[in-house]
Amino acid sequence: MDCCTVSKNNTKEVAITECPSCNEEGKTVQLITIKSLLIASALEIIEPENSYVFCSNAACSIVYFSGNHSQTFMENDLKVPVYPKNQGADVPVCYCFNWTRERLIHSIGTNQGPSHQIKVHVQAGRCGCEVNNPQGTCCLGNVNAFLRSIKEV
Ligand SMILES: [Zn+2]
Repeated sequence: MDCCTVSKNNTKEVAITECPSCNEEGKTVQLITIKSLLIASALEIIEPENSYVFCSNAACSIVYFSGNHSQTFMENDLKVPVYPKNQGADVPVCYCFNWTRERLIHSIGTNQGPSHQIKVHVQAGRCGCEVNNPQGTCCLGNVNAFLRSIKEV
């Protein structure tokens, strides 16, 4: 057993996935995601036996909450700006390959679109969404939705 392994029973409590603030359904993230992205003072209080859920509602300030609603984390508890909470132009939509809103906007009309480039990297196994993206999942859906939204303007 290595030093970081702690004995635990695998009987997780049933997690609530509705955000305690906005009541929207969130998505459970892996522990490795919040461990990678929380700042030290937030990481020091997490309860690894809990499950944690990401709230993707842009209008809600809660980024993560625990499955028993005992803890909530805001954007300033993370090391990175959080898409889609933060509306800044320099916020990454794709964290692994650093496609910010601004870079995506500038890519419009170029030959090799960003979603194609990102897809190539994903297929080559180069992405690390679970440790880079606060949502802990592949960013391609967000990239495509964002590109659609700016083309419609
Ligand atoms: Zn929320």
